Amino acid sequence: MRQLLITLSLVALLALPVSALAQNSSAATYEVYALSYGVYPNFPVSALLTGADKTRRIDLQMMIWLIKSPGKNILVDTGCYHENVVKGKGIQNLIKASDAIAKLGLSATDITDVIITHMHWDHADGMDLFPNAKIWIQKDEYSYYTGAAWQAGGKSGGIEPDDVLTLVKLNTAHKVNLVDGDDREIIDGIKVYTGGRHTYASQYVSVRTASGTVVIASDNMYLYENLEKHAPIAQTFDADSNLKAQDRMKQIATRPDLIVPGHDPAVFVKFPKPGNGVARIQ
Ligand SMILES: [Zn+2]
Repeated sequence: MRQLLITLSLVALLALPVSALAQNSSAATYEVYALSYGVYPNFPVSALLTGADKTRRIDLQMMIWLIKSPGKNILVDTGCYHENVVKGKGIQNLIKASDAIAKLGLSATDITDVIITHMHWDHADGMDLFPNAKIWIQKDEYSYYTGAAWQAGGKSGGIEPDDVLTLVKLNTAHKVNLVDGDDREIIDGIKVYTGGRHTYASQYVSVRTASGTVVIASDNMYLYENLEKHAPIAQTFDADSNLKAQDRMKQIATRPDLIVPGHDPAVFVKFPKPGNGVARIQ
């Protein structure tokens, strides 16, 4: 009996420090950049912020995000570029995601991973630009937009059918990782979270950096004003869930200004360096 107790306590002692060590040794940090890929002029703020004055307009910042370490170049969302998708939308200074990353000296083949926050055309349409990338998307987002969204009672607004076909093709080529739910560390130091409910199963991303934890909210928080006014995004499957997700982002991020909204031009004012449509979040 005594022997057993000693053995058990030894096991317990060994188990604790080992897991603590494992956490300490995984100290990879990343640089995070917001990259502009265009501007959507004169967009109604009331379509972004619940309760906003209907006459307010904003020049909507179109952006993607790059997470960089010596061994990884991870893109969060991919913008839009196909002619049939961008035609008639009036996006100014539109560039492909692969041209946006060139401002940081990267080419399309350098991208190792692509995290898709949600399937809207302005985030997922460039998915086919990165031949070496693994795609990370929520399993429920994948299932819904390849299936029920297009059935009676489904919601397919903002989803481009060709993007769905591209996603299915990438999956059959074994290039898609389906993330099963909330608070998942998909890559060392990079976690994804659900609950924003911008789309059926939109996700947001946390990144370990030298400045602390950065949260890439994407459209789960369109503008800084959503957070400041405690107002849900205007386009959501569940406004309560969205507000809770925004509250949670404040817990996850080391500082509130390290939460990066999906379409706020102020990102490039708050973080003016290095400039030319590139903002280092730090
Ligand atoms: Zn968007």
